[in-house]
Amino acid sequence: MDKLASELRERRTLDDEGLRTLLESEDASLVESLHRNAREVAVERFGKQVWLRALIEWSNVCRLDCLYCGIRKSNREVPRYTLSREEILSACASAWKEGIRTFVLQGGENPSGALFLADVVADIRASWPEAAITLSLGELPFTTYALLRRRGGDRYLLRHETASAAHYARLHPSDMRLDSRMECLQELRRLGFQTGMGMMVGSPWQTSQDLLADLRLMERFRPEMAGIGPFIPQHSTPLGSFPAGSADVTLRLYSILRLMLPAIFLPATTALSTLLPGGRVQGILAGANVIMLNFTPRAYRPAYSLYEGKPETDGAEALRELRKELSEAGYKTTS
Ligand code: SAH
Repeated sequence: MDKLASELRERRTLDDEGLRTLLESEDASLVESLHRNAREVAVERFGKQVWLRALIEWSNVCRLDCLYCGIRKSNREVPRYTLSREEILSACASAWKEGIRTFVLQGGENPSGALFLADVVADIRASWPEAAITLSLGELPFTTYALLRRRGGDRYLLRHETASAAHYARLHPSDMRLDSRMECLQELRRLGFQTGMGMMVGSPWQTSQDLLADLRLMERFRPEMAGIGPFIPQHSTPLGSFPAGSADVTLRLYSILRLMLPAIFLPATTALSTLLPGGRVQGILAGANVIMLNFTPRAYRPAYSLYEGKPETDGAEALRELRKELSEAGYKTTS
């Protein structure tokens, strides 16, 4: 049985039954061998290094109504905000000062806001020509994607959320379609963005067949990055009383993806560490190689409540603690 992980490592693919076993087996030695193989592949390729990214949640204004998300349009409990140009630049400056060279600007789906942000992206590009600018702004008109690219955006994260159209339809209002999301991902790639996709683990009604479909979709699309974290309920959403997803399955998925797509940039996500104390380091030991730190100004963090229990103390203040945890595991940070 332990051969499954080395077979995946060698062939970079497995049949459905093999993948399902890696996801579901209760054999602890099989799971250990999965994580060990993934960790070795990450270390062979990248050394014992973890890439740091600064997350700046620049606005929680959103026109969409995703059933799981705490900043969905219909949630009247959350005060809406958009950071000013100065606030965004000053968040970038504090991240730069800490040695972080990638800024991730994330927010709700806000087409007019995105036009404002495009100008800020140009300012960031002018101030820090060597920085990487990652955008995570959801589905936008293709002309806006092109504008963001021209202004200096390098990378774009747009999780597909689930590769099954029927499951997608249960998690989203009827005006949202998996096909549109996939068309956005194709267009982002065509525009020259390094592209990230991904899904929530254990979202309501998700089956192991759905997770297999997620893996196959990423195996085909070969994204440069993947964001994968457990679903965590948020009380003021329609899915607020569903149970959270599994940290164990999330870690297994990191390992499987590392073995399928050895060069992928794979964050140990905040959602994972929200559910599992020490989850960031465990994620790294399972094959992840990126950690995002929150540089959103403190006062706004409670309003970017995608899910319950999202830590509000993170970012610069957490960096020293994180470096210590990672160095205890033998890893250093880079950017
Ligand atoms: N609006 C943008 C970016 C913000 S949401 C977009 O849609 O891409 C970023 C990610 O947070 C989403 O892709 C989703 O996978 C995740 N997320 C939202 N609600 C969540 C929840 N309740 N639990 C876990 N992850 C959640």
